[in-house]
Amino acid sequence: MSLTLRILIGMGAGLLIGIAVQQLELDPSGWVRGFLVDGVLDAGGQIFIASLKLMVVPLVFVSLVCGAARLGASASMGRLGGKTLGMYLLTTALAVTLALTTALIVEPGTGADAPPADIDYQPKPAPSVKETLINIFPTNPVAAMAEGRMLQVIVFALLFGIALAKSGESGQRIRGVFDDVNETLMKLITLLIQLAPYGVFCLMTTLFAAVGWREIFKLLGYFLTVTATLALHVTLIYPTLLMLIGRVKPTTFFAKMREPMLVGFSTSSSGATLPVTLRTVEHRVGVRNEVAAFAVPLGATINMDGTAIMQGVATVFIAQFYGIDLGLVDFLMVILTATLASVGTAAVPGVGLITLTMVLTQVGLPVEGIMLIIGVDRLLDMMRTAVNIAGDGMVATTVARSEGQLDLAVFQDPQAGAKDG
Ligand code: ASP
Repeated sequence: MSLTLRILIGMGAGLLIGIAVQQLELDPSGWVRGFLVDGVLDAGGQIFIASLKLMVVPLVFVSLVCGAARLGASASMGRLGGKTLGMYLLTTALAVTLALTTALIVEPGTGADAPPADIDYQPKPAPSVKETLINIFPTNPVAAMAEGRMLQVIVFALLFGIALAKSGESGQRIRGVFDDVNETLMKLITLLIQLAPYGVFCLMTTLFAAVGWREIFKLLGYFLTVTATLALHVTLIYPTLLMLIGRVKPTTFFAKMREPMLVGFSTSSSGATLPVTLRTVEHRVGVRNEVAAFAVPLGATINMDGTAIMQGVATVFIAQFYGIDLGLVDFLMVILTATLASVGTAAVPGVGLITLTMVLTQVGLPVEGIMLIIGVDRLLDMMRTAVNIAGDGMVATTVARSEGQLDLAVFQDPQAGAKDG
């Protein structure tokens, strides 16, 4: 049985059991709910996420050092960086624009219900753009790794890799070691990903045992608008870019990206899913390490198309709810701030809601409006995370293709990288 199928079975079983547990309204301190669901399965889910996160820092560092050392400080590195960054910003801006357009047509906020009075939401301040920029540069690479500051790790790995390329024989020796460690880490992911069906099962059961369905029915308009826009983005914008710039078949791409998208959906964290995404993009899609090691971690950190879509729809929804008219300039502001907010959004569950404060403040909308949508955010987070991950893979693939760094034989082989994981 293929891994994807096993993950899907784990997911489906978790979903059904979770819903059943919720519907039965079992005693929270009882054996099934208290011990099994909130105890054993919750622990299982958290251990699965920990086992993925464990790989993130060493993998990004080692893999990117290998990639950067191969490229050296060549012109192609600058071009690659520029293209990748440009594509990430472009796709996010397109995502917000699509979200604003659908929300303006559907008008989900007109006549929406007021939020329940018992929600106590204190918006946390979003980081400023200046702070975000300064934070890219590490003062202490060890601290950056210990704290998992991904952009700082990326910058240090790039510099280290370039230095290796310039260090003659000593550089060559160290490169050999890094290449071997990279190989070993990839193998470790292949082993850990075998746990995914069980991990996903645990995560889905605990989540669906707790999810508030009533909230969804109250916010159905908003929920469906976000979901439909996410679907449109993935089925329209990504395939178009894959065909036009990548000159590859979108269906093949999505068939290969299923696993990271499913893991992203279950963990709601593109950061925790990063090892799976990187392995898939390199070994299954065929993007060479030089591009993948740079584009995928960067994308997981700064590219959040799904999050930007939620923010676009949420902004229009909140404006409509409060009866505030937004003008063209406001919409342009939303596109700009949501794109920047996506750069500043950490790749962990629920952060998109925090950076939404940035967007709302920018166009003078009440931040308390977030309380309106908080009830369904957990579920939307799952979907938008899967989209965020698909976006990272899509950009890596198109940039690699345009740089001659996509291995078409791997891309076209349905079995590539699938055998052992
Ligand atoms: N959970 C999202 C991610 O990790 C971020 C967010 O939208 O909150 O990609």
